Amino acid sequence: MTAYQHDHHGFETRAIHAGYEPDPTTGAVIPPIYATSTYKQDGVGGLRGGYEYSRSANPTRTALEGAIAALEEGVAGFAFASGLAAEDALLRAVCAPGDHVVIPDDAYGGTFRLFDKVARPWGLEHSPAPVSDVDAVRAAIVPGRTKVVWVETPTNPMLTIGDLEALAGVAHEAGALLVVDNTFASPYLQQPLRLGADVVVHSTTKYVGGHSDVVGGALVVRDEEVAERVAFHQNAMGAVAGPFDAWLTLRGLKTLALRMERHSDNAERVVAFLAAHPQVSEVIYPGLPEHPGHAVAARQMRRFGGMVSFRVTGGVEQALKVCERTEVFTLGESLGGVESLIEHPGRMTHASVAGTDLEVPDDLIRLSVGIETAADLVADLEQALA
Ligand SMILES: *Cc1c(COP(=O)(O)O)cnc(C)c1O
Repeated sequence: MTAYQHDHHGFETRAIHAGYEPDPTTGAVIPPIYATSTYKQDGVGGLRGGYEYSRSANPTRTALEGAIAALEEGVAGFAFASGLAAEDALLRAVCAPGDHVVIPDDAYGGTFRLFDKVARPWGLEHSPAPVSDVDAVRAAIVPGRTKVVWVETPTNPMLTIGDLEALAGVAHEAGALLVVDNTFASPYLQQPLRLGADVVVHSTTKYVGGHSDVVGGALVVRDEEVAERVAFHQNAMGAVAGPFDAWLTLRGLKTLALRMERHSDNAERVVAFLAAHPQVSEVIYPGLPEHPGHAVAARQMRRFGGMVSFRVTGGVEQALKVCERTEVFTLGESLGGVESLIEHPGRMTHASVAGTDLEVPDDLIRLSVGIETAADLVADLEQALA
């Protein structure tokens, strides 16, 4: 847990400097990987800088936690071993058995599984609602029992947009917290705490880390009372980010602004190409004026990001063929790295929701548009669709 610093600086400056001052003994500009589990005490209880054991705190992790808190403009940040570990710690910190939460009806699959198969047996009920429909979210709230309204925006893989200001109003009316999974947008494109959210969740595995080389998660909170509960649960449950993982994530974070600009530029080029292609029946991207969430996305996001979904005219066979034919786009799950990825949600990331309300069309393809040369990405899709 680190207090938010550098609040007067711009985003790019904070991404590079927040959370760490050059080492006072060596001058090291970048925090070392503090590969230590314990710390020498100067007399019993005499801690240097508050460090006593690395589950509780580790200086490399502290640097990352300070940086992510600064980017989301919260009072404290917390780094975990994965996005799901962050979610689990948050649930235990702010909910108890007998409580209720509202979740997106198209939540990330792992998040849905956590609520359905882990939190529910523990005693936490959930109701799904579409994040794009504020009235449906309000109707899903159980007065007196709903402690959290949990949303993602944009969602995966349909890129549905939720109006965070309106959703914060609905949650707060009911005395619930608004929790926003900001993984798809990243703090560069969207800052939910500014729009009234109480907690931001990240799978830092994706855009924050940005290089497909580390799994991690983070929470950023807007008030001290929630921060204390999260800090307690982070230490008590123990699913913390290790120092090497924290270091890699921090390294990635420094270039987040540059990467998100390029992801957005390249996605726009890909969208323009796909929208004009005769074999493409629909392009789903919040930057398109015809996207139902476009006006809200334009208001609350800086740009529209690197995730693009589209449907092909030739059904599931063609969709699978396109996924297998690309050469620059790598066929694979996950997202948010510098390299472009392509996948078939129906058979890959979303196979587990087939036959449920969360089922996705089988002619749908999802792209995580990377930061390669845009013309190469377009040419690759052109040959794969031919
Ligand atoms: C990947 C992802 C998660 C889970 O994060 P892990 O780091 O894989 O545990 C949660 N939410 C969203 C939107 C994701 O894309």
